[in-house]
Amino acid sequence: MTEKFPDIRDGVRALCAGFPPEYHRKVDAERGYPEAFVDALTQAGWMAALIPQEFGGSGLGLSEASVIMEEINASGGNAGACHGQMYNMGTLLRHGSAQQKQRWLPPIARGELRLQSMGVTEPSTGTDTTKIKTTAVKRGERWVVNGQKVWISRIQHSDLMILLARTTPLAEVKKKSEGMSIFLVDLRDAIGHGMTVRPIPNMVNHETNELFFENLEIPAENLIGDEGLGFKYILDGLNAERTLIAAECIGDGRWFIEKVSAYVKDRVVFGRPIGQNQGVQFPIAEAHIEIEAANLMRWEACRLYDAHEPCGAQANMAKYLAAKASWEAANAAIQFHGGFGFACEYDIERKFRETRLYQVAPISTNLILSYVAEHVLGLPRSF
Ligand SMILES: Cc1cc2nc3c(=O)[nH]c(=O)nc-3n(C[C@H](O)[C@H](O)[C@H](O)COP(=O)(O)OP(=O)(O)OC[C@H]3O[C@@H](n4cnc5c(N)ncnc54)[C@H](O)[C@@H]3O)c2cc1C
Repeated sequence: MTEKFPDIRDGVRALCAGFPPEYHRKVDAERGYPEAFVDALTQAGWMAALIPQEFGGSGLGLSEASVIMEEINASGGNAGACHGQMYNMGTLLRHGSAQQKQRWLPPIARGELRLQSMGVTEPSTGTDTTKIKTTAVKRGERWVVNGQKVWISRIQHSDLMILLARTTPLAEVKKKSEGMSIFLVDLRDAIGHGMTVRPIPNMVNHETNELFFENLEIPAENLIGDEGLGFKYILDGLNAERTLIAAECIGDGRWFIEKVSAYVKDRVVFGRPIGQNQGVQFPIAEAHIEIEAANLMRWEACRLYDAHEPCGAQANMAKYLAAKASWEAANAAIQFHGGFGFACEYDIERKFRETRLYQVAPISTNLILSYVAEHVLGLPRSF
């Protein structure tokens, strides 16, 4: 099958080849951050793919960015360590002011700053985002933030964070999606000065945190776009995020299929390769079919996003299909490796944990079904 963007694939594959499975396994075992890997991606310019050339990046689209993320996962790595910069970039590019772009994009492109974090989820509201309780109140030339966030990733490996906060109380807006705004938070100033970070140990080696805001002050000029339209802007970013994660799941899925196909050809039980049994072949073939089908929807979501056309349905459907397919592939891979699937040195159990996350985050499968039922099929609203 001919793959799109062969040059980008070759470049990312060559870089990833310098970080073999042993590297990612060690980082996982140590619960560390793949600093050398992310540095190498940054130095090679891949993390600045979406930044326009005038600001020092390569001016590529989401399609190309998705290939970079896919190839990282297909190589046995985990783009979750650094995908934040890709989806946050769209928010700054599409809604940031000329001054904001001039100030922040060149140092991000040079690799001096990282924009890896996005703070949306809150402990008491979960997926019901319009009910967020974190507030930002304008006081002179500053916004003062109070509240709490949960599951906010890569804070320790980012300099900047996109933050969603309510700027008009829910009771005072006509539509619940109104009255929220987004801000660029300089984490170097914020941590210890109104913002506290508490890491959450979790199943995947995914650095993620609880955040507490107590009168955190943000300069007025760090508001992105218009006050009150933050939810609309965040949705744009979420579509990019879902599409990128679909690509990562496709990368995962292909990694699992390649590993398990090689293994079942070699492993001989009852005098023949286990891959000769159709009971073994069919789940692998099924997962392959699902991954390739999800890939088609991923390209459609990328095309629409890059054309600035509505892509909510396609981004959600791509993420749904790809996360499901990679999970099926992971299940087949662990099953047909038998006991060895559980041994860390095969990397299956690590990738199995990593890909499982995408049924829940950044949006759960049920919420995608609900989106499609309501917004695509016009069924009655259930909440
Ligand atoms: C490792 C990790 C990293 C993350 N990183 C970030 C980050 O960087 N920034 C950020 O803002 N967030 C982040 N998140 C949060 C993530 O986006 C949320 O966990 C996810 O959206 C689900 O929200 P919740 O955990 O509050 O689940 P809830 O909203 O409590 O839902 C729990 C489950 O209930 C079901 N459910 C809920 N409502 C309905 C309904 N109406 N109908 C049917 N089923 C329903 C769903 O199956 C869902 O999985 C991260 C999460 C994890 C685990």
